[in-house]
Amino acid sequence: MENQGRNGKRLVPGPFQGHLTPMLQLATVLKSKGFSITIAHTQFNSPDSSAHPDFTFLCIPDGLSEEEVRNPDLIGIVLRLNVNCESSFRECLNQGTNHMESGDKICCIIYDAVVYFSEAIARDLKIPSIALHTSNAATTIVRPILLQLKAQGHIPVPDSMLQVPVPLHQPLRFKDLPLSNFGSLDYFLEGIVLMYNIRSSSAIIFNTIHCLEEPPLAQLHQRYQVPIFPIGPLHKLAPTSDVSLLQEDTGCITWLDKQTHNSVIYVSLGSIAHLNQDQLSEMAWGLANSKEPFLWVIRPGSILGSEWIDSMDEGFKECVKDRGCIVKWAPQKKVLAHDAVGGFWSHCGWNSTLESICEGVPMICQPCFGDQKVNARYLTHEWKVGLELEGEIERGTVERAVRTLMKEKEGEEMRQRVLDLKHKVEVSIGDGGYSSHYLSELVELLTSL
Ligand code: UDP
Repeated sequence: MENQGRNGKRLVPGPFQGHLTPMLQLATVLKSKGFSITIAHTQFNSPDSSAHPDFTFLCIPDGLSEEEVRNPDLIGIVLRLNVNCESSFRECLNQGTNHMESGDKICCIIYDAVVYFSEAIARDLKIPSIALHTSNAATTIVRPILLQLKAQGHIPVPDSMLQVPVPLHQPLRFKDLPLSNFGSLDYFLEGIVLMYNIRSSSAIIFNTIHCLEEPPLAQLHQRYQVPIFPIGPLHKLAPTSDVSLLQEDTGCITWLDKQTHNSVIYVSLGSIAHLNQDQLSEMAWGLANSKEPFLWVIRPGSILGSEWIDSMDEGFKECVKDRGCIVKWAPQKKVLAHDAVGGFWSHCGWNSTLESICEGVPMICQPCFGDQKVNARYLTHEWKVGLELEGEIERGTVERAVRTLMKEKEGEEMRQRVLDLKHKVEVSIGDGGYSSHYLSELVELLTSL
């Protein structure tokens, strides 16, 4: 079956969990269609090659210092990687091309839009390229207007405008704009310009679904004069792909097995967000006071000023006893699919959002930065499958939100709506569905290159 006459693809993922995940899943899908795959990745946050024996891995020297890797300033790292990796990737590709069999020519470079340096090289080497956007279509539509809003003096957003709707971008308010919390605003906006200019790329792939984002996808078709392929949710098309950068604690599944149907609230703020000690304490006591069982992921290093949960109040641990399970990293997709999980308190990263919808789990939305704010607004005000946790984290608000989601009619209505969405997504990836249709078109395009 190997290759089946289909030429090789170089896939260049962005070096963060939320970016590596969809790219490796896409690679798995394309491999299953007969393409040979090389993953060209940075040294920073490199994926585990042993988990993917079917792919070839190519490490691009990224020139980051130890200090930059230890204390990553995300925007700075993205901008620097794009400068540092351009020549090293070109060299890797030249060497690779020289060593390759003639039947295994690189026919396309599929790159994460955050590592846009790949497009310049593809263009120089006359290799077709395709961009993969790992956030949703609504974010891609609204991000380019940030520059215009800055020029009009609306960014940084003044307090008086936070609740004001963004003209032509309903349901977003100014507070939902996908701005970054990291580094300088000017650097961030500079990155946006580079990321959203697809230049010579032949197409754009989105890990999204027609039934979730029909209007923004229609706008994208108008904006970009190239084919757009919304083929998501990739994790459902490549369910076996092992993509975690951190070690998963499977003990939490044993704990979930002992809980009753839809009783547990799962809490995770993803792979990048941080909390301070006060926020940790308010979250903890809100969960404790809700009296509902919870499974909470606290990433080592994610609490400012402590290694893990060493600073956690002993009184809290005493109060929750076996009603709570805290782990460093969970097998999230298995957790969300577990019968005991009835709600997800999330930072609303796009992967987490899709994973929750696909398992019919309603959400409490606590976005931290960037596209999470757009996703949260869509979850709460467009799809109406999530509750918004607004303002500073405070134990009383947390307790009420958890009870509302898990026990009250409002939460039950959200559960029904998210189950409807889950069904629509299943239709989309089934025979004749939109995602299957776009995937066939993508395969056709790749075969023709
Ligand atoms: N994830 C996981 N275990 C955890 C927490 C998160 O496997 O304990 C995975 C989750 O399933 C998702 C990814 O990490 O696929 C996080 O991506 P997302 O886009 O949601 O957020 P980010 O981490 O980029 O902020």
